[in-house]
Amino acid sequence: MRADVAILGAGLAGAAAASRCAEAGLSTIILEARDRAGGRGFTRKFTGSADLLEFGGGWIAPWHDRIRDHAERTGITLRPTHAINKHRWHDGQMLRSGQPTSEEARTSFERAIAAIRHDALLYKEGKPFPWQGPMTLSRYLDRIGASPEARAHVLAWWTISGNGDPEKIAASEFLASCAYGDGTPASMMTALRHTLVPGTGILAERMIAQAKADLRLNAAVSAVRQDQDGVTLICANGETVSARAAIACLPLNALPAMSFTPGLSERKQRAIALGHGGRSLKLWLKVKNVAPGILASGGPGGLRWLFSERQAADGTTLIVGFALDDGTLLPEDRNSVAAALARFFPEAELVAWDWHDWVNDPYARGTWVALPAEETWIGDAEIWGREGRLAFATSDFAESCAGWFEGAIRSGEAAAQATIELLND
Ligand SMILES: Cc1cc2nc3c(=O)[nH]c(=O)nc-3n(C[C@H](O)[C@H](O)[C@H](O)COP(=O)(O)OP(=O)(O)OC[C@H]3O[C@@H](n4cnc5c(N)ncnc54)[C@H](O)[C@@H]3O)c2cc1C
Repeated sequence: MRADVAILGAGLAGAAAASRCAEAGLSTIILEARDRAGGRGFTRKFTGSADLLEFGGGWIAPWHDRIRDHAERTGITLRPTHAINKHRWHDGQMLRSGQPTSEEARTSFERAIAAIRHDALLYKEGKPFPWQGPMTLSRYLDRIGASPEARAHVLAWWTISGNGDPEKIAASEFLASCAYGDGTPASMMTALRHTLVPGTGILAERMIAQAKADLRLNAAVSAVRQDQDGVTLICANGETVSARAAIACLPLNALPAMSFTPGLSERKQRAIALGHGGRSLKLWLKVKNVAPGILASGGPGGLRWLFSERQAADGTTLIVGFALDDGTLLPEDRNSVAAALARFFPEAELVAWDWHDWVNDPYARGTWVALPAEETWIGDAEIWGREGRLAFATSDFAESCAGWFEGAIRSGEAAAQATIELLND
């Protein structure tokens, strides 16, 4: 046995699991496929500059108490999100400031926002939605009779909430995010309160170091075997590790690449085969002639949600932008990115841009969890209970705060607790 507990994956769920195991006096070894810790918490320099940015998740909400606790314990500080000084809206036809639509389109726009607010508040109060069965975002927009302007607005906020294909993903993923605030789409800003300095990847590294976990990088696990005495993990690099128990802290969409002996429960296998549909594109843009604090949203496609966050070390402004993975933005193509920027910031000069492709990343295969309307059960934490000596964690099926770093940490801590109880039995 190399350790009491082997942890698969060095994201925030894996780091939290290691931290909780260490508190209980258990030794841990972490097997991580990448050459770094942090997973979808990915802090790195913007290409060719000294600016450390979050290429995966970034914001944390005021009620995310576990990540705040770990940040404090590891000397990570919190940066408040820049105040929004100005709003710009693109209604699908033209750029507007002052209000999101023309006078003529205003009544139908406000009717759609009122319907969204009503349904989001039902969610907030724990009441059922006024419909039965699966409801994708697209069907929902038809149901509330959303005008083209309202659709442009909703799809912009969709890029940072439900994300993924609106024809497939559940509308509840969007309404739940509207419920963070007063029920309107724009009120989901309430949740984007802080970012971490120096970053979430560094938080994961420090949590792992504090837990004195034995971190093995470039160790992608391809097979998990367990019997009544322990768990053996076989890595693609040929390394084999045994431990008394294991915790798989892996993205839902990375699980199909692995084999489990004995096989997992039928419900887990079905959930793994279906996966989740989180598919936003997040880009960082360095621009000139734009001040920090401008929020821009809407448009016919391309970048749909942009926020000029802060100044870079070289005096340019950093804009974070989100798009749907629907082919309307080509993130590698300068013309496509520049055109998307110019739609909202005609005054801007694009200096450089950078991003990470999470959809094709073999160890993520998607962004944050977004459940298909037909199959919302796949994220149900109940399905993801321990099987024998193997426990499961990730923000993708966390019991609370799923899709957030906070969910990853809570889920890692819960899986570690279940493992501690097993080993103490
Ligand atoms: C673009 C983007 C924006 C986001 N924005 C936010 C935000 O603003 N706020 C927020 O709270 N959350 C945000 N999220 C979500 C957040 O990043 C995730 O929910 C969280 O990081 C997931 O943590 P995790 O530990 O569950 O999974 P991961 O971070 O994915 O960690 C899993 C680890 O397992 C490793 N792994 C995979 N396969 C194997 C294998 N076979 N063997 C060994 N290791 C393996 C991976 O390399 C990874 O390191 C965002 C995510 C993305 C992609």
